[in-house]
Amino acid sequence: MGEKKIVKRIRVNLDRCNGCRACEMACSSFHARPKYSSINPARSRIRVVTDEINDEYVPIRATDYTKAGCDGRRVYTINGKDYSECSFCGSVCPTRNLFKEPDSGLPLKCDLCESDPPVDEPLCVQACSLDALTYEEVEEEVQDEVKLGGVEIGLKSLVDRYGIQELADAFARMSQKG
Ligand code: SF4
Ligand code: SF4
Repeated sequence: MGEKKIVKRIRVNLDRCNGCRACEMACSSFHARPKYSSINPARSRIRVVTDEINDEYVPIRATDYTKAGCDGRRVYTINGKDYSECSFCGSVCPTRNLFKEPDSGLPLKCDLCESDPPVDEPLCVQACSLDALTYEEVEEEVQDEVKLGGVEIGLKSLVDRYGIQELADAFARMSQKG
């Protein structure tokens, strides 16, 4: 049985997005270490899937890591425009390079800009001057779920890539070196 919780979400209005990518810059800057020290859209947890010829711009946030890809063969027609299935998918999957930290290849995930002190609105929403992204908090009944943090998601992907024994050996070698 679920319980009532405040659910945070970002509503996307495709008709308003013009592909400026300010959201990508704001996200990568907010998550840089130290905060705001660099801008690199390749590190953003929101990416704008762009098809300029067909005037299609889809801001999509990183969601779950998955070690298997889907067949990705569906096409969605919205207001006369054809979008591929990948345009709406936030999964970090093996068949594309979106949402992988460029240096390590580890998965990135949108954390809704959770921080201490908290921000009034997620940074991508603040950066979007066209209101293609709007922030909402709504009360909903939700099922209990195990929430993985960034470290757990990264470790899970490393286990999938190298196997748990190789990782355990690497940790043992690192701890010997101090
Ligand atoms: S900032 Fe807004 S308009 Fe610009 S790409 Fe992002 S969602 Fe689209
Ligand atoms: S909510 Fe925050 S972490 Fe998520 S995509 Fe927007 S700026 Fe990035």
